[in-house]
Amino acid sequence: MTKEELIKEIRTVKDFPLEGILFYDITTLFKSAEALECLGDILYEMYKDKGITKVVGIESRGFIMGPILATRLGAGFVTIRKPGKLPAETIEESYKKEYGTDIIQMHKDALTEDDVVLVHDDLLATGGTMKAAIKLVNQLKPKQTMVNFIIELKKLEGRKGFPKDLEIDTVLSL
Ligand code: IMP
Repeated sequence: MTKEELIKEIRTVKDFPLEGILFYDITTLFKSAEALECLGDILYEMYKDKGITKVVGIESRGFIMGPILATRLGAGFVTIRKPGKLPAETIEESYKKEYGTDIIQMHKDALTEDDVVLVHDDLLATGGTMKAAIKLVNQLKPKQTMVNFIIELKKLEGRKGFPKDLEIDTVLSL
């Protein structure tokens, strides 16, 4: 499948979860066996030579392609979760959302200083979630951190404000 064909598989839903928001629903991509396989192939080609040892997925839509990619790369998979979900000792970051503050957590022993980390999420909108995730991951001082999204919403300019030397790549730009 081409990237244009993949984009056509994404359903848009008006006024979800709030009025005025156009939501990009990627469950329609994942339910297509062909699209799912194609996404896995594209991601693998993007990251096969980067020496990645851990893929970190952000709850919850980062938990779909994250483990698929980790398996292909021979890397481990780590979860970043909302508060109260992880059972062992955690580290955390808080970040501002449009309405209020959110917190994300990760197990304190999830990464080591030898890890080369790819932090993955489904979609880049304002970038607030991923910026907090990068800070969280970097608390554990991995050797290198990279960022991947399946979809980037270019108009929202979410790339602004990330560290300049951070490698950020997306599969599809909308
Ligand atoms: P950001 O923090 O503004 O970049 O928002 C990105 C986060 O919100 C990601 O974890 C996405 O899963 C979620 N998100 C925001 N907008 C959408 C959308 O249109 N479709 C799917 N997820 C979205």
